[in-house]
Amino acid sequence: MRSLVLIGHGSHLNGESAVAAYRYAELIRARGLFDEVIEGYWKEEPSLRQVLRTTASTDVTVIPMFISEGYFTETVIPRELGLGHQGPVPPEGIARVIGGRTVRYTLPYGVHPGMADVIVARAREVLPELGPDGPADGVETALIVLGHGTTRNENSSRVIYENAARLRERGLFSEVHALFLDEEPRVTGWADLVRAPRVVIVPFFASEGWHTLETIPEELGLSGVVTPFPDTPHGPQQVHYARPVGTHAAVAEVILHLAEEARGAGGPGGDTERGHEAAWQAFLKLARRGARVGELLVTPELGVFEIRNALDEGRPGGDLMTLVTPEGVRDRVRFTDGGEHRPVHTLRSLPRGWRAVLNEADLRRAVHYTYPAVVEETYAHGCHALRPTPWATTARRQTGIYAKVQRAVPEQVERVAERVCAACLRTRLWAGERLTHSFLDGVPGGMPCAEACTFLVAEVREEVARKKAAAAS
Ligand code: SF4
Repeated sequence: MRSLVLIGHGSHLNGESAVAAYRYAELIRARGLFDEVIEGYWKEEPSLRQVLRTTASTDVTVIPMFISEGYFTETVIPRELGLGHQGPVPPEGIARVIGGRTVRYTLPYGVHPGMADVIVARAREVLPELGPDGPADGVETALIVLGHGTTRNENSSRVIYENAARLRERGLFSEVHALFLDEEPRVTGWADLVRAPRVVIVPFFASEGWHTLETIPEELGLSGVVTPFPDTPHGPQQVHYARPVGTHAAVAEVILHLAEEARGAGGPGGDTERGHEAAWQAFLKLARRGARVGELLVTPELGVFEIRNALDEGRPGGDLMTLVTPEGVRDRVRFTDGGEHRPVHTLRSLPRGWRAVLNEADLRRAVHYTYPAVVEETYAHGCHALRPTPWATTARRQTGIYAKVQRAVPEQVERVAERVCAACLRTRLWAGERLTHSFLDGVPGGMPCAEACTFLVAEVREEVARKKAAAAS
């Protein structure tokens, strides 16, 4: 049995941030090469601290869904997963046994040599004449691999230079240049550098966003996919502007290559993780009788299960939107009824107006999406196997812009927690609260919180910054 975990950044504010990881997980799941594909996030749920506990097997491969190496892939993710490693990740990745699971952590997908193929695939979308040996129409064509670039992270530019060198060797283009948005050589100087009459620009960015949609076209004067420049130092030129590499479906192939390389010669995989399976069997036993789990009502019906918001109990099924897949449930519960993003799923804001009819396997996945890690953590709590992490430990672990939460005094943390956690179903074990009965014992809202979530950490950081600003004024 084998589990694959894709780690995305996620966001407390933007509900679209997690979509890329979801999409790649779906593509890889459809290939059937792993028994399960799970997503985990820095700023959403399941969080990096929780995600390993949500995997069903003892053989886990973790891939950071980042475009280059840096602070997150070398510091934050290894630290939060408990890999006992900080700093550059070797090409063969890192393997550790954590809580009975063999965990292999790889380099981010963006540094894999296979990304050169993704760049070519993006170039071909805007230049269909690009054949296997170069442009079929014989027009000299230059490629610009465009990176963000930042003087703070030389890794982010290294990957651009490496891909440019690989593609130069292939000889598909008459020129290949590595240019940047925020460092030299800058893409704004392309016309002085590029001699070919046709130029393809492929942004080596993780996602479509402000830079790819606005700043790059504006700074370069692009008017669409193809923009003519009649008067440049090298005569008339035409720029073809591609979409970012990170959103191309071929990235799924790169991820699979990374996963296979991390496993070396492979092997039979791991076993079913016993604690995980016991947790879900406990949940299913409850579900077969009918149960309330937080705001969710689970009803067994002729061999399948119906789930809906408990506030919709008694409403005719025809009045509700009927969902039939775990992914349908995931996309519904990610937003409140008012359309607001829900980075913390146990906040009491589960949307209404829907029901899902699912078989037992899909029920598990749908509940995972609705309340990530809750079944596993609640079961572990009942077995006295969920160790709370006090606030001081969580705060000490924070680095970068979050290190300032270490300056928060207990009263500040409590004030913020009273506001944020009051809306949450979970009981703050990390603050010394006690949970005597859980939803597995028939108390719907009984769910443990073993450690302050990143949402609360971010709110405490805001509080510290506000206090400092108030003291200075
Ligand atoms: Fe909920 Fe508070 Fe725990 Fe975050 S820290 S999961 S808001 S109880």
